[in-house]
Amino acid sequence: MRQHGKLEYGGLAAPQRTCVGCRVRTAKSELLRLVLVEDQIVPDLRGRLPGRGASLHPDPSCLELAERRRAFPRAFRVPGPLDVSRVRAHLEEENHEMSCRTPS
Ligand SMILES: [Zn+2]
Repeated sequence: MRQHGKLEYGGLAAPQRTCVGCRVRTAKSELLRLVLVEDQIVPDLRGRLPGRGASLHPDPSCLELAERRRAFPRAFRVPGPLDVSRVRAHLEEENHEMSCRTPS
């Protein structure tokens, strides 16, 4: 079960990010951080990969929206096109295996 991160700072504003797909501002902890490795976008599952990141809801429909508006090249400031297959695979896997998530 996923924790909602809103109150973990005792009511103070949690860090927020905008989802590049639906453009909704949400607590950073609700979003998946993505980074660019060469021309491929990969999910930064531990938040440790260096470089410019983009934030996305862990939701295939947000990924689709982001692709349709060409949000990734803009977010990463590259001309594109970019390969999102690793992100898509990750989201699909997560949808299938919700209950198997390993705690970090
Ligand atoms: Zn979204």
